[in-house]
Amino acid sequence: MPEAVHVIGAGLAGVEAANLLSRCGVEVHLFEMRPVRMTPAHTTDQLAELVCSNSLKGTDPLTAHGLLKRELSQLNSLVLQSALLTRVPAGKALAVDREAFAARITAEICAQARIHLVRREVTRIDLSVPTIIATGPLTSDALAGAIAEITGQKGLSFYDAIAPIVDSQSIDYDKAFFGSRWAPDDTDYLNCPLDRDEYSAFVKALLAADTVTPHAFEDARFFEGCLPIEIMAARGPESLRFGPMRPVGLCDPRTGRRPHAVVQLRRENLKGDAFNLVGFQSRLTQGEQLKVLRLIPALAQARFLRYGSIHRNTFIDAPRVLSPDLSLTSHRNIVIAGQLSGVEGYMESTAMGIMAAYSILAYLRGRPFLPPPPETAVGALMHYITDTTAGAFQPMNINFGIFPSPDVAKKLKRQTLLQREALAFSDWLGTLNYRALME
Ligand SMILES: Cc1cc2nc3c(=O)[nH]c(=O)nc-3n(C[C@H](O)[C@H](O)[C@H](O)COP(=O)(O)OP(=O)(O)OC[C@H]3O[C@@H](n4cnc5c(N)ncnc54)[C@H](O)[C@@H]3O)c2cc1C
Repeated sequence: MPEAVHVIGAGLAGVEAANLLSRCGVEVHLFEMRPVRMTPAHTTDQLAELVCSNSLKGTDPLTAHGLLKRELSQLNSLVLQSALLTRVPAGKALAVDREAFAARITAEICAQARIHLVRREVTRIDLSVPTIIATGPLTSDALAGAIAEITGQKGLSFYDAIAPIVDSQSIDYDKAFFGSRWAPDDTDYLNCPLDRDEYSAFVKALLAADTVTPHAFEDARFFEGCLPIEIMAARGPESLRFGPMRPVGLCDPRTGRRPHAVVQLRRENLKGDAFNLVGFQSRLTQGEQLKVLRLIPALAQARFLRYGSIHRNTFIDAPRVLSPDLSLTSHRNIVIAGQLSGVEGYMESTAMGIMAAYSILAYLRGRPFLPPPPETAVGALMHYITDTTAGAFQPMNINFGIFPSPDVAKKLKRQTLLQREALAFSDWLGTLNYRALME
């Protein structure tokens, strides 16, 4: 008899993991706490319920989201197949009828004899059983405590204050200068100066912009530790100049003077092809962020790889506690999937469900699991979250900034990246040895 695996959480990642394991002949105990215990955002007892937007983002294969979907399609993703069958018109985006989507996935999972759905909250982890933990951003408190215990006190984070990230090639370097505070020769920060009028216009636009309404469970205590820029601006016209936009210790080499205000950009990765706007977490809608942040002169043409956000999120400090195969460094039989692993977003979490299942399958068969290479979309995500050279960890969605940058002329980059991805993914699929994992 094949060994049974526990999958905790029947969200997007959990259903993918359970589906793949069951189709490979493994018995699965799939634990889902709803409706016995609800999360603050889910409202139904359906598996794979989408808690917010019904959009799974774009499908254009020339974009990073499109590439991820193409790879998921080649991996026979149940979530993607269900989305395509329940899609609603939304231009280039893949949006779904959320009820039909969740109902289809629930029916598919419940129809599989090897999947035993158990409706209860899991509060502790049985370390003797091969287990995939896929309890997502709203992992229940008791289980979060159990995860913190086995990963160490600092292994788990609860809130996500995400600063926007811009593509380095879209920055106007004539309107920016490198230098750290009191260290003008340091190249750690790229400073985007604003004069008095530019700063006033920026604050005015910020205060007039629309924000995303917080969920009731995302209480205000959080904001005291990590204020969104629009809340800071509302406290007074000079607050940002004394906060993340303070110009102290900086001198603009073009004027020889301290700028009126500054937005500091920090490299997001070693290649330096993506920069984040330090301290610029925000609850502005994405459209408003684009409008307002482009008022910063050096960012007038900025391409945003990720927008700022703030929301309740539970995720592990992946680079510190996960192996490249998504298992805990301390326990090879415990694998983390979905948003809990440090990725951000529906499709990203889905991908980590499939990878977690492959990882556990390899463990059961006594084989190593080699993740897809970082040149692929799934591999780039896995590499990002398990990169031990990373500093303070923040969750990430799929974007070209996390792919290794090809060493070619700027105009050839995108095309090279796409060609390389297609080759690398099909090579990896060829080496996956699916049949061996099924035996
Ligand atoms: C408020 C909010 C808004 C979001 N909006 C978006 C958005 O618009 N677009 C987007 O792409 N992403 C969004 N996300 C992120 C998105 O929810 C996740 O990317 C995705 O759902 C993660 O999938 P998952 O399978 O990891 O977790 P989930 O889909 O959340 O599934 C986890 C499952 O585990 C169950 N569970 C939790 N604890 C236990 C336990 N102890 N025992 C048993 N079961 C348990 C939960 O009930 C849930 O069914 C949002 C997240 C939040 C919190």
